[in-house]
Amino acid sequence: MLDCAIIGGGPAGLTAGLYATRGGLKNVTMFEMGLPGGQITQSSEIENYPGFFDESKTGLDFMNTWQEQCFHFGLKHELKKVERVAKHNEHFVITLEGGEEVEAMTAIVCTGSTPKRAGFKGEDAFFGKGVSTCATCDGFFYKDKPVTVLGGGDTALEEAFYLSNICSDVYVVHRRDTFRAAPPTIERATRKENIHFIYDSIIEEAYGDAMGLQGVKIKNTKTGDITDMANTGLFVFVGHNVRNEVLKDENGAFICQTNEWGQVIVDLNMKTSVEGLFAAGDIRIEAPKQVVSAAGDGSIAALQVISYLQERQ
Ligand code: FAD
Ligand code: NAP
Repeated sequence: MLDCAIIGGGPAGLTAGLYATRGGLKNVTMFEMGLPGGQITQSSEIENYPGFFDESKTGLDFMNTWQEQCFHFGLKHELKKVERVAKHNEHFVITLEGGEEVEAMTAIVCTGSTPKRAGFKGEDAFFGKGVSTCATCDGFFYKDKPVTVLGGGDTALEEAFYLSNICSDVYVVHRRDTFRAAPPTIERATRKENIHFIYDSIIEEAYGDAMGLQGVKIKNTKTGDITDMANTGLFVFVGHNVRNEVLKDENGAFICQTNEWGQVIVDLNMKTSVEGLFAAGDIRIEAPKQVVSAAGDGSIAALQVISYLQERQ
């Protein structure tokens, strides 16, 4: 029986592993279906992790030392996909791809979330080279420059507002003429002089060269007119997929409480509604979706696991 099963090996999972093992737990396994490191390994640079400031290092370089540190303190890693986490009496059963079952006293779920792609031409080719899904991460690269934002939900308008304090102009492209975002969010964005709205429009193409994105072609879906906008930053906010599948039972029902968007409801200790089950990082409610906060969540969850097990000794 494991003391703790950690599901997902991004910043939250790795930090949970570090704190759990260094905090004295002997039998902790992290299940990660790919290379440990998580989403940030897709990024060519990271500028906002405190104490880390090396422009020559990619997100992958940055995360490499995290796993070394965890494995040094005794975290075990299994390169396996988890299908399901279930509570049986006082412990958890972790079902792996292929059907193998592993028992654990506690579980910390850190499977993250992934921003959706909009599907326009050039989106994948220029992802990380001008096309971004994170204003907090990449907005500063466009200081005093114009940028384009795609989407009409709360995230798009909140992030457009954030960008408007850094960038010269923010062009919000939305496929309809009314926004999905909440009225106060729309009103606040509308009041900002350097946010401009382009309605009934989609991104037809993002284009550029080896240096990165050079501009976007915006198509008005009513007239068919195409506008060429020479912006080097394009932020896509068309929703998120929360990776919460492991928390569903055989009938597709969540084993713990989630909100209407499938984000796991936790308290300030990363406790879910199920005793002994914790969730950390991008999967949880109100996650800031940053490496530093995911790591913070992971440490909190692991410290709580240690207390939980001590109380039951
Ligand atoms: P994730 O990083 O998503 O890790 C989850 C892990 O769980 C993944 O490795 C996944 O393979 C694994 N997993 C999922 N399901 C299963 C399963 N069923 N079984 C086993 N394993 C599973 N943040 C910043 O602070 N600064 C930045 O500059 C920055 N830039 C970014 C650039 C890009 C391109 C992207 C995509 C994100 C960026 N972020 C940045 C955001 C940051 O990467 C995330 O907020 C952070 O990685 C979330 O950590 P996490 O551990 O919660 O989840
Ligand atoms: P969302 O509400 O699903 O909005 C996605 C937006 O992207 C919509 O405007 C949608 O257009 C557009 N879109 C989707 N696919 C597209 C495509 N392929 N091409 C172009 N546009 C596309 O996502 P979100 O803004 O990330 O929000 C997710 C949930 O979190 C929402 O329920 C939101 O209210 C909530 N949230 C709340 C807060 C807050 O309360 N402060 C902050 C952020 C998010 P249509 O409108 O035409 O469908």
